[in-house]
Amino acid sequence: MLFDLSNAPVEELEDELFLQKEVSLSVLRLDTLHPVVSGNKLFKLHYFLTAAISAGHSPLVTFGGAYSNHLVATAFACREAGVPCTGIIRGEQPEQLSHTLQHCISYGMDLNFVSRATYDKKEDESYLRSLKKLYGACIIIPEGGYHPLGATGASKIMELYDTAGFSHICTAVGTATTLAGLLIGCREGQQIIGIPVLKGLKDIGERILYLLGYHATVKQPEIQDQYHFGGYAKKTEGLLHFMNDCMERFRLPLDFVYTAKLFYGIMDGIRNDHYPPGSRILCLHTGGLQGNDSLPEGSLNYH
Ligand SMILES: *Cc1c(COP(=O)(O)O)cnc(C)c1O
Repeated sequence: MLFDLSNAPVEELEDELFLQKEVSLSVLRLDTLHPVVSGNKLFKLHYFLTAAISAGHSPLVTFGGAYSNHLVATAFACREAGVPCTGIIRGEQPEQLSHTLQHCISYGMDLNFVSRATYDKKEDESYLRSLKKLYGACIIIPEGGYHPLGATGASKIMELYDTAGFSHICTAVGTATTLAGLLIGCREGQQIIGIPVLKGLKDIGERILYLLGYHATVKQPEIQDQYHFGGYAKKTEGLLHFMNDCMERFRLPLDFVYTAKLFYGIMDGIRNDHYPPGSRILCLHTGGLQGNDSLPEGSLNYH
């Protein structure tokens, strides 16, 4: 792996509520792997990077919008691995680049802005062929790392950490690739819980079938889809208040796009007796804190 996992500990949180409900809540602090790069993204990229390296450092090409955590992670990981990379960016180039894209450039990623109409063809065979013509023998990573190799990479989270003692393992869901990785790596009797951050993500079952590939499994995740707060990157005053509260109570910084919604859902579940006494819950803090850069100054008591 390209990073030092000893920087990402499992921490048990303390609170009256947990004592009262007789549950424990621990957090896998993948956010502390790197200040800008989301921890789960590095895992998802693992096998694409090793493929690029063994092909003689062939370039990686991937896709994202102006705030994509996946793009920054790819830019960073490629720099560490000495692999050239290009990001195909949705929409015309703006005058002022987002913080995210500025980070991508600082890590050495080439940015190629394309119209929304072109971007929408990012899964078409003919478009992908034209990219291979343009960039030579490159490896193309789908948007968000949504690919069986991404899921296998994410499953290393379960392999590299001692997660055997947890009864419930929870993650935020965007493309569901990380969730699929947890399913690949989980044991008998462990419940994997996904909390979607998008509204109306109805095809998680099909996504998981595609992502699991040859890891045929009968295990299904539990999806709690009532915590999206109106949709992707949408937020409420209540959510920001919850984030400030988590910082004060637990010294836990959260991002408003993914991990705040995940934590809100878990705390709500604990309060409403969704987790039986004796439950040992592990929650993935996948990172994403750079996304808070887009919030108005003063929204949070940290950052
Ligand atoms: C991308 C991302 C996720 C979602 O991961 P998927 O594998 O796409 O479901 C969760 N948390 C953070 C911080 C992310 O950047």
